Amino acid sequence: MVVGEIPDPVDLLVVGGGPGGYTAALRAAELGRKVTLVDRGGDEGGIGGACLWVGCIPSKALIEVADAYHQTIAMRRAGLEVDAAAVNLATFQTWKGDLIAQLGGGVESLLASAGVEVISGRLRFTNGESAAVDTSTGTRFLNWKQALIAVGTRPSIIASLASASTSTDILAMKEIPASAVIVGAGYIGLELGTALAKLGTTVTVVEAAERIAPTIDPQLTGHVRRAMERMGVTFLTGHSVVGIDGREVTVAGEGGERKLNADRILVAVGRTPNTDELGLDRAGVKLDQGGLIEVDDSMLANPRVAAVGDVVAGPALAHKASAEAVVAVEALCGLPSKFEPRGIPMVVFTDPEIASVGLTEAEAAEMQIDVVVGQASLGANGRSATLGSDGMVKVVVDLASERILGLHMVGRHVSELVAEGALALEMIATPQDVTNTIHPHPTVSEGIHHALTSVVSKR
Ligand code: NAD
Repeated sequence: MVVGEIPDPVDLLVVGGGPGGYTAALRAAELGRKVTLVDRGGDEGGIGGACLWVGCIPSKALIEVADAYHQTIAMRRAGLEVDAAAVNLATFQTWKGDLIAQLGGGVESLLASAGVEVISGRLRFTNGESAAVDTSTGTRFLNWKQALIAVGTRPSIIASLASASTSTDILAMKEIPASAVIVGAGYIGLELGTALAKLGTTVTVVEAAERIAPTIDPQLTGHVRRAMERMGVTFLTGHSVVGIDGREVTVAGEGGERKLNADRILVAVGRTPNTDELGLDRAGVKLDQGGLIEVDDSMLANPRVAAVGDVVAGPALAHKASAEAVVAVEALCGLPSKFEPRGIPMVVFTDPEIASVGLTEAEAAEMQIDVVVGQASLGANGRSATLGSDGMVKVVVDLASERILGLHMVGRHVSELVAEGALALEMIATPQDVTNTIHPHPTVSEGIHHALTSVVSKR
């Protein structure tokens, strides 16, 4: 710091304005803290974070318009008559921009009403009590008492594939590509692959592992793969992309190398934490080899600094970040708070959707827990049939305690049902607790009831 520059005193400094950061700021304000939130904005973020600007919300907007188009065509067999349906992506971009502005404005006004000071600028720590923020009007210096880091991630770039598009580029497109190669069959590859296929793009998905979304139960991903193949998607599993030259992609797998050509090439091979530019070591914060911040079970990296969201271990999900943020702020305020959920729900917005919470059958086996597994097909579910979908529900129940340990589903709209599983886990529910609960007919939720009924009848 230059002599003569007086730093502004800050009670709680929150770095990052995404679901982790803004939730932390709001909870801290509720607890009577004076909060300053710094976000650098730019192409990948702003208040609302990557989730609002380039992630969860714009991807669901694209998925929705692609699905509406696809369903319009699919429902011709049910008598729907439409002269001509088409998607204009330039108009879509305006609609998407309005949605983001509306939701972002909502977060900004919540922060303003809570008295949170928001600084737009790029922050770096200068030592364990001060930081500098480069803003459009110059550098501001802050003298902070406590800090919370919630700076999220950016798409991982593999040097040899750097010329390809990221998910941010795909979500900003104004024209539907005729063909696309997608590198990585994880969350992003499968969601955007589905959306592009529905819009009429010829999609090839290249995945290094032997199966798509290798961390998810194979019975669930099997449904998604078959559904995507019916949409015309080609999968090359057990293949890695080794190079990209213009529109040409070189793929290596069993049988050697081959070349693919596409109008668009999307690389979605994971995300990298934005922890490398903050000078975190100067604030006494340790990073692991992957650039994640090491925290304890109260989300504290040291007694005065907490970290939440994609910059700490665990799934990179917005709702995990916001749940951790509440714990972190409470711990910084001296309250007894720990992050110990019994399950963190996850959803992949493919068609059919995947939604899951708690232990899978494979994870239970790895942990040597004896379980009973119940299943129900959504092929026989009346509501699923009218939605033109099938799928399944799988439940994992602890043999000894009878507790429900996991709920895993693939089907249309199952994203809206997985909170029932999260609630069952948190309430330490047994199968009988759920089967004694009346589930409405005709809904996809009856599948959960049926899967658990199959467990009760096995006992
Ligand atoms: P991911 O980790 O989900 O999947 C990346 C995939 O790429 C893996 O299956 C991996 O085996 C494969 N891969 C890596 N290198 C490869 C190569 N050279 N060639 C071929 N395949 C290769 O990553 P993502 O899809 O980029 O998503 C990033 C994160 O964003 C996820 O971890 C997720 O938490 C989050 N996300 C969540 C949602 C949601 O909640 N619905 C949606 C999108 C993204």
